[in-house]
Amino acid sequence: MARTRISFLTKPVVFLLAGLCITLATTGVVAVALYQMRLDAMAQARDVAENLAISLEKEAERTLDIYQIAMRNVMTNLETPSPDLPPETRQFLAFNAADAVSDLGVIIATDSSGKVVLDSRSMQSSTIDVGRRDYFLVHRQTPDIGLYLSKPFMPITKSDYDSIAMSLRRADANGRFQGVVAGTLSLRYFRHLFDDSILGENGSLTLIRSDGIVLMRRPYKPDDIGKTLAGSRSFPPLMRSDHGTYIDVAALDHVERLYSFRKVGKYPLVVVAGLATRDIYAGWRKRALSIGAVTAILDALIIMLCLMFSAQLQRRLATERQLQKLAWFDTLTSLPNRRRINREAHRILADARRYSSQVAVLFVDLDRFKRINDTQGHAIGDEVLSEVAQRLRRCVQGKDLIGRLGGDEFVAVLERCDVHKAARVADRIMEAMQRPIAVNTGRGVGIALGVSIGIALYPHDGRSVDTLLRNADMAMYRAKNAGRNQMHFYASEYEHEAREHLDLEIALQRALREGALQVAYQPKVGAWGMVHGVEALARWHDDKLGTVAPDRFIAVAEESGLITELDTWILEQACSQLAAWRAAGLDIPTVSVNVCAADFKRPDFADFVARTLQAHNLRPSDLTLEMTERVMFDESTDDIRATLESLHAQGITLSIDDFGTGYSSLSYLHRFPVQELKIDKSFVQGIGTSAMAESLTQTVVNIGHALKLTIVAEGVETLAQRDFLSRHGCLIYQGYLYSPPLAPQDFARWAEARKPS
Ligand code: C2E
Ligand code: CA
Ligand code: CA
Repeated sequence: MARTRISFLTKPVVFLLAGLCITLATTGVVAVALYQMRLDAMAQARDVAENLAISLEKEAERTLDIYQIAMRNVMTNLETPSPDLPPETRQFLAFNAADAVSDLGVIIATDSSGKVVLDSRSMQSSTIDVGRRDYFLVHRQTPDIGLYLSKPFMPITKSDYDSIAMSLRRADANGRFQGVVAGTLSLRYFRHLFDDSILGENGSLTLIRSDGIVLMRRPYKPDDIGKTLAGSRSFPPLMRSDHGTYIDVAALDHVERLYSFRKVGKYPLVVVAGLATRDIYAGWRKRALSIGAVTAILDALIIMLCLMFSAQLQRRLATERQLQKLAWFDTLTSLPNRRRINREAHRILADARRYSSQVAVLFVDLDRFKRINDTQGHAIGDEVLSEVAQRLRRCVQGKDLIGRLGGDEFVAVLERCDVHKAARVADRIMEAMQRPIAVNTGRGVGIALGVSIGIALYPHDGRSVDTLLRNADMAMYRAKNAGRNQMHFYASEYEHEAREHLDLEIALQRALREGALQVAYQPKVGAWGMVHGVEALARWHDDKLGTVAPDRFIAVAEESGLITELDTWILEQACSQLAAWRAAGLDIPTVSVNVCAADFKRPDFADFVARTLQAHNLRPSDLTLEMTERVMFDESTDDIRATLESLHAQGITLSIDDFGTGYSSLSYLHRFPVQELKIDKSFVQGIGTSAMAESLTQTVVNIGHALKLTIVAEGVETLAQRDFLSRHGCLIYQGYLYSPPLAPQDFARWAEARKPS
């Protein structure tokens, strides 16, 4: 079966996101459209209000013009200096002139006392006196006022409506006040004019005198007439220009409106048309509500569909995963089955080919499993297999593969695995199987099992998955024939090597547990003979294996992880030894201890070192930790750096061992808090024979000087070597020239002998 392609279209969450995006997009578009519609409604209303204001203004101006002309005619007829015209004729002519406006209002003329001398309503002489009206008083007081518009007043004849008067001053040839000509205009006229307009429910029309007095207003309330708007917020801008629009809350009825205003010709009058924003947006609001509702329903539908779709997809994927599991995994143990083992092994081999690394294939077979099945029944047999599978899984590392071929046969494929690691894993498996397996037999007894393991290595024992499996199987048979519960390599030459390595590991473990290691001490000596310090070196003598070289057992310790235990022990020993020597009167400035990357990865290492120093009454400056360049190139640099910084902060000296043999990258020397360099003994020993070694030695010394580091040469065996070193500025030496590494009491004797007597 082909593996399900996990393209992004098969992810349920994608559908949810898509649904969300679509709804967001549609909602956004609708919102923008609605906003645009709202702006349009306002723009339209603005046009309506402006047009309304314009037509009102025109109408009012026309009417007032007619009125004014009529008034001026009356004035002319009254004033023309034709002495032979009798007063009755004048009266008649003036009466005729006023006739033009008789349906709008009344025209009167007065003498200088305010007595009416002409009244357009009648040819008879009048008895009315307007001497107290504001227009009369204004003209008498202010000669050059021109045309004056009065405040609204209730006419003497008592109509339903207020009136206003338009008036002109009469003067004789010398400019002396002779009375006024006034036309009274019933505001009913304006009321009707206003009523015809299309204003909506809450619209308003207002006629204002330029000082803010309201002359007429729709909606009509008698109380509003004569009020002044001069104090309101929108009044000043109204006066500043001939026309304009603005939005404001009305001072008279507190309704928010869009207002358009215009000055009426040359008259001190302003018409203001207002449309309530409530009315302007009423239509828009209805449409917005229905569009919004439809959008919300659509969005909900889309989301629902997406949810349904993604749920369905999720179910399908789950089924597919289930099927896949059945196809690729063993149902009893959940371990990869034969097919999967095959496929994964192919992949692992391809990688190994690319990186030229080794791979180990372990064929694991339970000993005498058939008997368990036959005597205890299949149910118990299955239980045993499940438990075995769990234990096996714990024996391999994350990336390694362990699977079940069928029956009681299991296979492990280990990446980047040499003979030693393969032996160690096989050993771990055998150990894991030793513990009896508790099964549900009702008798509370466990089943003890043995395993036989056959191992084949890529590329040595085969280059294809099939060959390797076949050879591992064959090796497993040899293990069975040799008496079961053991491992066998396919190639017999590995057998010995792996066995030895494993024995070494086991013996080292025992030696550490029993404290059977020793420490040897080698001095570092300064150019003028004083002891600069001493390096602690691990030594191991085993009864069966004999003396094992440090290079060998240190390598085994590093591979198996025993190294941290070993280093801890040496550090402890070295500190206690230094304290003991000092107590005995020996002057030894420092002790150096070798450490490796694994030590620095212990989160408590810096604390442990501090505690050990304290326990022996030593200062941090009494200790130097030597590490190789490899430490700084470890993949967990951050953890290591943190530990190094902390050790440095305590005042412990950090030294780079075997300098020059490793990575030859100087940049790390800046980045880590190092104070000492040790020139590797391979360079020192080339002095005098190899120009290359000599020039490298010089280079290392120069680097050390440039970075202000202490430089120590190790492996110094001859005077010639020492002289070369001292000539080039390296002044501390360690090597057989002074002393080999010595047992503690021998070192004490050596140091005693050098004491100045
Ligand atoms: P190293 O730290 O470079 O130690 C110096 C090695 O050079 C020691 O080898 C020492 O015996 C040897 N040596 C000293 N003077 C001379 C000389 O004049 N000529 C020659 N040819 N060799 C000289 P050793 O003791 O065999 O240790 C080997 C390595 O094992 C050490 O190299 C160190 O890296 C590691 N090692 C030793 N003890 C420990 C330990 O306690 N912990 C850790 N992590 N590593 C250790
Ligand atoms: Ca060292
Ligand atoms: Ca060294």
